[in-house]
Amino acid sequence: MSRKLKIGFLGGTDEIGKNMTIFECGQDIIVIDCGMGFPSNDETPGIDFIIPDYQYLKDNQDRVRAVFITHGHEDHIGGLPYLLKDINVPVYGSSLALGIIQQKLSEAMVTGVQLNAVSDRQEIEVGRFKVEFVRVTHSTAGSYALCITTPKGVVFMTGDFKIDHTPTDGVPTDLARIAEIGKKGVLLLMMDSTNVERQGYSMSEASVCKALEQQFAMNKDKRIIVATFASNVHRVQQIINCAVKNGRKVAFVGRSLINISEIAKTLGELKYNDDDIIDIDKFGKIPHDRLCIISTGTQGEPMSALTRMSTGKFRNITISEQDCVLLSSSPIPGNEKLIYNVINNLCKKGANVVYRALDEIHASGHAFQEELKLMFRLINPTYFIPVHGEYRHLKLHKELVVELGMKPANVFLPEQGFLIEVEKSGIKKGQAIPYGKLMLDGAVAVENEFLLRDRKQIGEDGFLIAIVDRTPNEDGLYNKPIIITRGINVTEEYKEDLGEELLLDMNGGLVDDIDGPTAKQILRKLLAKKLFAKLKKRPMVLPIILD
Ligand SMILES: [Zn+2]
Ligand SMILES: [Zn+2]
Repeated sequence: MSRKLKIGFLGGTDEIGKNMTIFECGQDIIVIDCGMGFPSNDETPGIDFIIPDYQYLKDNQDRVRAVFITHGHEDHIGGLPYLLKDINVPVYGSSLALGIIQQKLSEAMVTGVQLNAVSDRQEIEVGRFKVEFVRVTHSTAGSYALCITTPKGVVFMTGDFKIDHTPTDGVPTDLARIAEIGKKGVLLLMMDSTNVERQGYSMSEASVCKALEQQFAMNKDKRIIVATFASNVHRVQQIINCAVKNGRKVAFVGRSLINISEIAKTLGELKYNDDDIIDIDKFGKIPHDRLCIISTGTQGEPMSALTRMSTGKFRNITISEQDCVLLSSSPIPGNEKLIYNVINNLCKKGANVVYRALDEIHASGHAFQEELKLMFRLINPTYFIPVHGEYRHLKLHKELVVELGMKPANVFLPEQGFLIEVEKSGIKKGQAIPYGKLMLDGAVAVENEFLLRDRKQIGEDGFLIAIVDRTPNEDGLYNKPIIITRGINVTEEYKEDLGEELLLDMNGGLVDDIDGPTAKQILRKLLAKKLFAKLKKRPMVLPIILD
């Protein structure tokens, strides 16, 4: 039996989102994270949900031993209910991550999954792998790097991390353990590339506190609405602390915020007095300047609380000059337009909106260059693979470690669709594996490869239906075809003329004695050509032939 160490990337490299990595040795496969991706209107119109294609794991399910979770962010756990429905294996992670996962599993009605909460420095042995959970700081509590001991050597995956010396919960990145691991020798380091473009050190979560305090002081007379990620438990804690200190009651708005805060409170990750929290439907009696609303919707998500507030469609909250909205977050690339729409709408309603450009009310959860360098120095690996980034991030990350003395030949830029084979003597590309996006459209998985192409074409250029009757009338001639269009910029008159032109061609013998499918082809090409000549656009053309 082959004892090769193989690693495969099913997502999270050459893209932001849907992180998923697999390790394989002999008969054992382990999975690290199973996240979701972010649909976009441009690339995946109408798609609700994207997860990694995990066909390879389905094909080898009797060898899959466990899933290890670095932390409870959507891009690391969002796909789990789907994976676990198909392949029921034990899951290991922090209690907060597992709490969030448990809720997702219940919603998806997936039962009987074994969820195992781990503690700092705990080691789990699964088949030929031993996985140690090493505490790191990040923008959610319960975040871990994974130190994976394999028959070929140690692989260290940082997971999403930053090196925050003053984290809100007082649990910093476990630098001492990381240094020890590095000293024993690490074959391969896989490191978060999200902020590789940013110089220096990331801000500590503690510094957000000062900025929040300032904003609360400057907006004493207003109702304060703070939008943040529901999973950023430390941030939510700081906002609550600040509100209570300033004599305000706190209301949670948005389903994920209410859910995650409840889980975090039960686990002791979030601490507050129940008296300080009020129900959203009951704050009518409380004056504006005694209230702080914590809301979801930092990414401009259309159905989120903040977006609906900005358009005046959220329950009992009407935005006015008496409101101050703090966006305690930064945009996930691709979401900028949605977010600025929300900001513009809030401003139009008279609110004072404070976002990153105005004030430092957000600290990133991902390491900047100097932190990446420190991690690299501590681990001091033989080989390096940058992960969690788009291609430019990965390339820049390679340059960064080469500056630190890494041989360019020892850096491997990850590609999806292959297993790589890791040996002490080098890393090489191995067998191809299925990969890609598994998309959910409403409640149904997308299996038609042309769905998105058709949607884009219809969305951008519209469509035309030509109903063509090939039964001759009593004069031995054809009847005029019926032309129907949607989303095409033409007049009724043009459509009439187009029908006349088509009739002339038909009476000239265009589709006489030709089988249906071929006749359709001929009509489609002809109509498409005419439309392109007129519009310089390519609408979808659907001829329907009645024989
Ligand atoms: Zn994360
Ligand atoms: Zn992430």
